[in-house]
Amino acid sequence: MRLPIDPESVKGFLHPEEGARLFELAAAAAGFGPCLEVGSYCGRSTVYLGAACRAQGQLLFAVDHHRGSEEHQPGEAYHDADLLDVQSGRMDSLRAFRDTLARAGLEDTVVPLVAPSTLAGRYWGVPLALVFIDGGHSHAAALADYRTWAPRIMPGGILAIHDIFPNPDDGGQAPYEIYQLALASGLFRELEPTRTLGVLERIR
Ligand code: MG
Repeated sequence: MRLPIDPESVKGFLHPEEGARLFELAAAAAGFGPCLEVGSYCGRSTVYLGAACRAQGQLLFAVDHHRGSEEHQPGEAYHDADLLDVQSGRMDSLRAFRDTLARAGLEDTVVPLVAPSTLAGRYWGVPLALVFIDGGHSHAAALADYRTWAPRIMPGGILAIHDIFPNPDDGGQAPYEIYQLALASGLFRELEPTRTLGVLERIR
């Protein structure tokens, strides 16, 4: 795995082992089609996925409205005051994200889609080789991300979901719920997880 910058220099919540797994998955998938992530935030996962796509001459679509998820808002547990746009009083991770893309030399690989996930996906037609879901962690947001993007994954493609906590004492359950929904659909099979990164393969 060759990375253009240290992902730990980018704000985010992805563990290096999870990032390495994303790199490995994207490196294998990118030969078959473009990859897409939901919930780029400042671009830590984008560095791993983008580096793998770039090595294959492939594109990575990076979906994020950059207004922060519920937990990033002022007063919430994961709020980062550095990312507050003082003029608007709203969260804005786009500037940090663009800085990451520039530093990592990924501006010719990553296509930022600055929009809510459901809007970005409304007219989507290109089959995706890999989808990484790490967007809002409310039940509604996770479900919308799953319903929007899981059908766009090509057979043989990968659905990776971050923050899978089978035990409710360890974390929020929305990502785990869509993980189980994907399994119950009969369209996916489980691959080995990496820490809290759930990995599914589309089988039909
Ligand atoms: Mg996450």
